[in-house]
Amino acid sequence: MLSTLIYRSRLSPACSVKELNQIVTKAQARNAALEITGILLFDGDYFLQVLEGAESAVNQVYGSIRRDPRHCNLVELMRDYAPLRRFGNLGMELFDTRRYAQGSILEAVLQKGTSRYNLAYDDRALKFIRSFVEGHWRAHLLPCPDSANWRFATRENPFSLPMDLIPGQPCQFALQPIVEPLRGQISSLEALIRGTDGGSPADYFASVAPEKVYEADLLSKNYAFALAKRIGIGNHKIAVNLLPMSLVMVPNAVGILLDQIARNGLIPEQVVVEVTEDEVISRFDEFVIAIRQLRSAGIALAIDDFGSGFAGLSLLSKFQPEKLKLDRTLVSDIHINGPKQAIVQAIINCCAALEITIVAEGVEKVEEWCWLQAAGIQRFQGYLFARPLLNGVPPVAWPDNAV
Ligand code: C2E
Ligand code: MN
Ligand code: MN
Repeated sequence: MLSTLIYRSRLSPACSVKELNQIVTKAQARNAALEITGILLFDGDYFLQVLEGAESAVNQVYGSIRRDPRHCNLVELMRDYAPLRRFGNLGMELFDTRRYAQGSILEAVLQKGTSRYNLAYDDRALKFIRSFVEGHWRAHLLPCPDSANWRFATRENPFSLPMDLIPGQPCQFALQPIVEPLRGQISSLEALIRGTDGGSPADYFASVAPEKVYEADLLSKNYAFALAKRIGIGNHKIAVNLLPMSLVMVPNAVGILLDQIARNGLIPEQVVVEVTEDEVISRFDEFVIAIRQLRSAGIALAIDDFGSGFAGLSLLSKFQPEKLKLDRTLVSDIHINGPKQAIVQAIINCCAALEITIVAEGVEKVEEWCWLQAAGIQRFQGYLFARPLLNGVPPVAWPDNAV
């Protein structure tokens, strides 16, 4: 099957334009051997490349481009399939847009097409080429802090040392900080349930009888709040996960939560309840009743795993939580993924208008954090900063701009 991949990148400042011609000659030979066709637009600074060929060959070429240090700020814009090659006559010509008058660039690109027909009729590939030539995208480029400039250093945190497994409990909890890296602040701690032997949430729930899951989920929160007390949480916030149905099916659920909170010396305003998008949607009407009670008690609500399910932004037309946690599927490799960038920018705009705080979850790479921070997100959770720690708060790796 014929596949198309379009990406944009910037010529590394370390690479001269003369060197570029040599690279292109080499790439042409490689592409010819793999039966890759396409076009490489260059405006003196940025590239836009259309690669077309067998999917495996396209992936192979794109893989080596991704690893090539002469390409920086690389962003994948489009992957698609097509009936015909758009640039079937070109191995991989370097098309220097500076050689043409602004108004005639697109026409000159079209001349290179295999046939004018397959570039017409609202072709998305052609639209990417047109946008590149028009150059409006430059205004939306983020002033990305260079990820290479950051060093991470762990600092002591103010909490008590972690403990081993706590005996006599049906479950354990691990804590993972949610941080504001540039302010050097922990904004909250998320309590993640563990089995009696420290196993995963799935292990824990597998050990509970199906008809007892909601009750067990709700009652387990007492151990999360007790842990918060033990570590000396002070004014920090604690976030707990709940199945929304645990709030609906257990009689007086919010009353029970409030009692657990008070018993452990906490106040409702420092508690955040996280529920996942999918579970909210499946029984929305019942869920709304539970939210009302939570909010009336002063407890904040966060939508967890936002972007992983079906609901997406339409959920926010039904109700607006205090916090929204961007799912890891949107966060991973966002720095090189155009579709994820577009979606997350839309979510950021939407949350700014609605005063909803965004937390990016599952941040593992410096580059992901840099992109998201430049896009306006301030709160982060992920292995880059700290992994969950059983019965304690792990030290946070704080970034420091060394340059
Ligand atoms: P979640 O609430 O989205 O929690 C984040 C999960 O992502 C945690 O997995 C955490 O260990 C993991 N994580 C954090 N940073 C990173 C990262 O940088 N990379 C990757 N790959 N993963 C990261 P965990 O502890 O296994 O929890 C899984 C899920 O189980 C939670 O997802 C939550 O939905 C659920 N869960 C946890 N505790 C409870 C609970 O008390 N009640 C209920 N109903 N569900 C819970
Ligand atoms: Mn969560
Ligand atoms: Mn999540």
